[in-house]
Amino acid sequence: FVKDKGRDDFGFFDPKLQKSLERKAIVLQRLREAINNAKINIHFQKQVNSKEEVIGVEALARWEDEELGFVSPAEFIPIAEESGLIIRFGHCLIEETAKVLQEWQNDKEKKHWRISINVSLSQFQRDDFEYLIKNAILKYKINANLLRLEITESLLLKNADKALEKIDYLKELGLTLSIDDFGTGYSSLAYLKKLPVDELKIDKSFIDDIVTNKSDETIVAAILEIGNQFGFEVIAEGVETKEIYEKLLNLGCKYFQGYYFAKPKKKEDL
Ligand code: C2E
Ligand code: MG
Ligand code: MG
Ligand code: MG
Repeated sequence: FVKDKGRDDFGFFDPKLQKSLERKAIVLQRLREAINNAKINIHFQKQVNSKEEVIGVEALARWEDEELGFVSPAEFIPIAEESGLIIRFGHCLIEETAKVLQEWQNDKEKKHWRISINVSLSQFQRDDFEYLIKNAILKYKINANLLRLEITESLLLKNADKALEKIDYLKELGLTLSIDDFGTGYSSLAYLKKLPVDELKIDKSFIDDIVTNKSDETIVAAILEIGNQFGFEVIAEGVETKEIYEKLLNLGCKYFQGYYFAKPKKKEDL
């Protein structure tokens, strides 16, 4: 018995868990440095309408670390959220986005493009969030209409009254609002009647198999119907093929984002 001590068959040591904790610690340490040194880049993925005209872009964080190589935002954003680093990063993102919008004011092609940014719960909940946005709008003299915030349903569940107040303030500034990953949360649909939503973003998980999976098609059709009835724009994310695009067009979807149209790119390469 004593001989076996420390072996994993008693559940004392789980090498897999250990490995993932080590990875997390390393990512956190590198991420802190990357954020403090402004090493996280922002890429932009085009969004198009049913005439395939660009109507805007989504800003997406990109990090290529000297030691770790490319780290996906799906890995580092949750770590940034847990550690509080998202606050500093989110602030930079607002500033950067406002700068880009200002630059595009003098660009014939891009001056009507909107930029959507992803907002984390902890960032949104801070008392200064709406003022950071307001300051950026004033500082860069941009049209607030061109700035769209992507929030998730779960964000609305936490302290709903406070969230609503904040959203009203942001709407008054002229910003627009998108519900990201729509359909994947556990929230009720009741908030849709109270919230000044502008856009529902259908999660990629409903889009991937839409050509072959009848259930996914039904869900997407239902989201489009809700959007239509409420007067929200509905955008499909993760559109990868012509077949998916055509299926969505047939269902009446009007806005699209996905590799079929464009991958996220550096501003200079748009
Ligand atoms: P999201 O907001 O749902 O972003 C859409 C994700 O789908 C992006 O992944 C995008 O690159 C990917 N995507 C778009 N079209 C396609 C496609 O056709 N095929 C495939 N396979 N993927 C596609 P990404 O950039 O890895 O970001 C993952 C998530 O990380 C985002 O999901 C968002 O929740 C979060 N995130 C990214 N950047 C930021 C940021 O600056 N701030 C915050 N708070 N979160 C961010
Ligand atoms: Mg998003
Ligand atoms: Mg999404
Ligand atoms: Mg998604």
